[in-house]
Amino acid sequence: MKIHNFSAGPCILPETVLNDAAQAVSNFNGSGLSLVEISHRSPDFVAVMEEARTLTKELLNLPERFDVLFLQGGASLGFLTAAYNFLPEGGKAAYIDSGTWANKAVKEAKHLGGISVVGTSKASNYDHIPAADSAPAGSSYLHYTSNNTIFGTQFAGTPEASVPLIADMSSDIFSREFDANPFHLIYAGAQKNMGPAGTVMYAFDTEAAGKTGRSIPSYLDLQVHASKDSMFNTPSVFPVYVTMLTLRWIKSMGGVKAMEIRNAEKAGLIYAEIDRNPLFEGHAAIKSRSTMNATFRLIDDAHATAFDAMWEEAGVSGIKGHRSVGGYRASMYNALPKESVQVLIDVMKELERTA
Ligand SMILES: *Cc1c(COP(=O)(O)O)cnc(C)c1O
Repeated sequence: MKIHNFSAGPCILPETVLNDAAQAVSNFNGSGLSLVEISHRSPDFVAVMEEARTLTKELLNLPERFDVLFLQGGASLGFLTAAYNFLPEGGKAAYIDSGTWANKAVKEAKHLGGISVVGTSKASNYDHIPAADSAPAGSSYLHYTSNNTIFGTQFAGTPEASVPLIADMSSDIFSREFDANPFHLIYAGAQKNMGPAGTVMYAFDTEAAGKTGRSIPSYLDLQVHASKDSMFNTPSVFPVYVTMLTLRWIKSMGGVKAMEIRNAEKAGLIYAEIDRNPLFEGHAAIKSRSTMNATFRLIDDAHATAFDAMWEEAGVSGIKGHRSVGGYRASMYNALPKESVQVLIDVMKELERTA
């Protein structure tokens, strides 16, 4: 039976990518060796890292002054890395608290300086993107989380700010176009929309990074990694390889703009059904809805047993909501085909008919 993978992360990857990755694990580039048993300094792997970095620059249309790295520690270490590289000693930064991950970003940055939370939607269980006050004078940057994976909310676009931006784009990177010029740093854990868990992408302004007056531990120093072409230490070769394959796939499909169109179409379908079907309601405020993660629930929990049996029967996987929201969450990352969304919608309709 075909499985329709709505997992929030790690998540669905294109089938061709998984097939090519499996091939590389047994025999990489016809070398007779596995990708995971060769030196990361071998020309074949160096070419993989270079292609991953170059494709990122190309697909995101990054300005010349940007560099791209694939490191470890996930977005969770990114919270601290962001502050280490862009928050001056004794300095200030502004953060928007739009969800669990945004809140963790605040917590980590507080290790290093004066953090102001300029907007929060915590009081309503993060069901919307909060309005934000302007960053206090002297702030070095405004940090925000472009898509709130757990709550299913997403910034409609790049927020207006008088200071440079830093964004955790873990769960919507490569899902829609944006202009990188206002940013000092964009970072994203791979496992939401890019590849397997195990690497995190940093795209940053090389002219702005590291001007903090503080001494930065080597692994947290983006300039150190840039000077070593993202090979300061042994990179996570398999996650970087699979990410590179996914980036090739995005390019072959028509690039980020084509992803944006597909994603808008899928999101349009699921939200139309959530709004139409009298048995369901959405979690996120309509204006804040995410194209990546649709959060919804049954209005009457008495239908849960029947609904759960029906979607499992249809091959739908991974739609149980996060424990802090409950209900259901349909994650519709780039690789999820429209047909899978249609299968879920058909189940919702069938429940309405039979309930
Ligand atoms: C999953 C997620 C994270 C955490 O990523 P790790 O790679 O597990 O550290 C951070 N931010 C967002 C928006 C996420 O979805």
